[in-house]
Amino acid sequence: MTITILTLFPEMFDGFQTNSIMKRALGKGVASIKVVNIRDYTKDKYGRTDTPPVGGGAGLIEKAQPIVDAIRANELPNTHKILMSPRGKTYNEALAKNYAKVDNLMIICGHYEGIDERVNAYVDELVSIGDYVLTGGEIPAMAIADSVIRLLDGAISEDSLKDESFNDSALEYPQYTEPYDFEGQTVPDILYCGNHEAIEKWRRKQSLKLTREFRPDLFKNLQLSKKDLKLLAELEDENPPKWEVDAIDKGKKFKKNK
Ligand code: SAM
Repeated sequence: MTITILTLFPEMFDGFQTNSIMKRALGKGVASIKVVNIRDYTKDKYGRTDTPPVGGGAGLIEKAQPIVDAIRANELPNTHKILMSPRGKTYNEALAKNYAKVDNLMIICGHYEGIDERVNAYVDELVSIGDYVLTGGEIPAMAIADSVIRLLDGAISEDSLKDESFNDSALEYPQYTEPYDFEGQTVPDILYCGNHEAIEKWRRKQSLKLTREFRPDLFKNLQLSKKDLKLLAELEDENPPKWEVDAIDKGKKFKKNK
């Protein structure tokens, strides 16, 4: 997949492509990113890409001509074109998964006070990354490119993707590192029991608990299995369930015997 990004500020994408997981994934050819400067396509004799809005008002609006010519000149076969806009569909993991399946993606970044309305007719959809206004579409474009590339084969391990937040609309369970005791806060004992089934069960329970607490909007749409309902019922009891106590005890005995 090639992700083509149209922007007036191409340098903003330098650091994005040359660090961490994006650097590695792009280096391995998991995807490629082409950053295009919209200014290269302006027909204005002074090189301008933006003007005050017709009818008056604050700020500068990006003109349609340079953007539309940049789209036409850089569109690859089967390109899904999205325009960054606070008015757009709110971006989420489900959209990231859809975009990870397209052959090529084009992301168009607005800047200043926005873009001439008529550009909308040249894209497939308008996408927002949330209900707040940024100075430009570059950060939203990075958020989208990052979340899509990490889903592509070879970007990160399958295991890392499996349990993540939003996979089935539930948030990820809590994660811990050593030491066991950090300033009085301890790692849950179940994580040391060595019983992978029990650990998985505990993690699912925590994932349901966190989703219910932090994202009731997601929780109400979760497809809960019988096992999930049982785990949720366990949360109502202040004592841990027998399977959890047994798994911890067994783990302790096993360690002693070693
Ligand atoms: N005047 C516009 C309005 O009130 O909707 C805001 C324009 S904003 C300052 C400039 C550009 O940043 C937009 O054209 C868009 O490309 C981008 N942008 C700002 N906030 C965004 C968001 N939440 N999601 C996606 N793009 C955004």
